[in-house]
Amino acid sequence: MRKWTRCLVLLFLVFIIGVKPVKAVNNEIKELKCSNKSIKPMENIEYTIKTDGDDLIQVEFKVFDHNKKEILSYFQNYSPPFAAGDSIKVNTKFNKQGIYFIKVYLKNFLSNEIVNEKEIKVKCGNVIEEIDIPKKTPSKKEEEKKREPKGEKIAYLTFDDGPSANTYKVLEVLDKYNIKGTFFVLGKNAEKNKKTLKKIYDDGHVIGNHSYSHDYNYIYSDVDNLISEIKRTDELIKSVIEGYNNKLFRFPGGSFHRTEAKEAVDELGYKHFNWHIDSGDTREVLVSADKIAKNVLSNIWRDKVVILFHDAGAKKTTPDALPEIIEGLLDRGYRFEPLVEESFNSF
Ligand SMILES: [Zn+2]
Repeated sequence: MRKWTRCLVLLFLVFIIGVKPVKAVNNEIKELKCSNKSIKPMENIEYTIKTDGDDLIQVEFKVFDHNKKEILSYFQNYSPPFAAGDSIKVNTKFNKQGIYFIKVYLKNFLSNEIVNEKEIKVKCGNVIEEIDIPKKTPSKKEEEKKREPKGEKIAYLTFDDGPSANTYKVLEVLDKYNIKGTFFVLGKNAEKNKKTLKKIYDDGHVIGNHSYSHDYNYIYSDVDNLISEIKRTDELIKSVIEGYNNKLFRFPGGSFHRTEAKEAVDELGYKHFNWHIDSGDTREVLVSADKIAKNVLSNIWRDKVVILFHDAGAKKTTPDALPEIIEGLLDRGYRFEPLVEESFNSF
């Protein structure tokens, strides 16, 4: 009986004074998941956010680039407001590839006060570069490594198989961006387009040798054939450009596995250059400019990068792809240089 009375008194007191509800858990992002942390440009990306807590909240997103510069901010008010334990999915997409950080803020629905935030890193496109986020005190070795000068980002745009009427379009684009490129010319085309050859030189670009005929059967059947074609092309260039003395060579099809030919070219005093990225502009008769740009920009994998293009007469879409490629590389901190003999040792 006494127990029963005590309970009744307690209930009465609770009723009179009232009990302030105690928050068991504050609003917090319990889970922030990205459906796919490595996406292709313009592909939808989906985040799942799970929260805990008992307030009604709103969600705000901010997107930062790899330098943590804010590039996008938007609110995502849910109706009815987001509540504890809910999970929401947000779709967004990036049109440029790179590394992005997405910060998600939970805000009190009424006061707008940020109650919790979390960050997620997303790679858009085939981005190999990793950004270091300092977490712990660096070791001595890491400190020493930090002091080493960071690699500069340099892109070398190279054009093979010209000169042709198409070369003018390439020159126009390069001129617009004030970029100097490297042109590995064919002797047979230089012979037909001497004015264009001269223009390449007068515009300040570098001219290299790409054999006379480009005829694999002939030049690779005997090393002597290759050497005589290099010499023939060299003489031709010299006849058009006074003082030309470059010893840069690009093997038709690349130097890969051509040990004997490489030795002969070395002996002749030439530096030969392959490429790190093939723009793919010869993979079909006419590759769309979009495709060429994508081939290049989705494959940037090193700081110093030699990119292969063609300025042969038939490659009419290559000049159209250049602005997007150049701007994409500029965005990623690259500058442009032509190849010189000394470049040989820097790859
Ligand atoms: Zn070629």
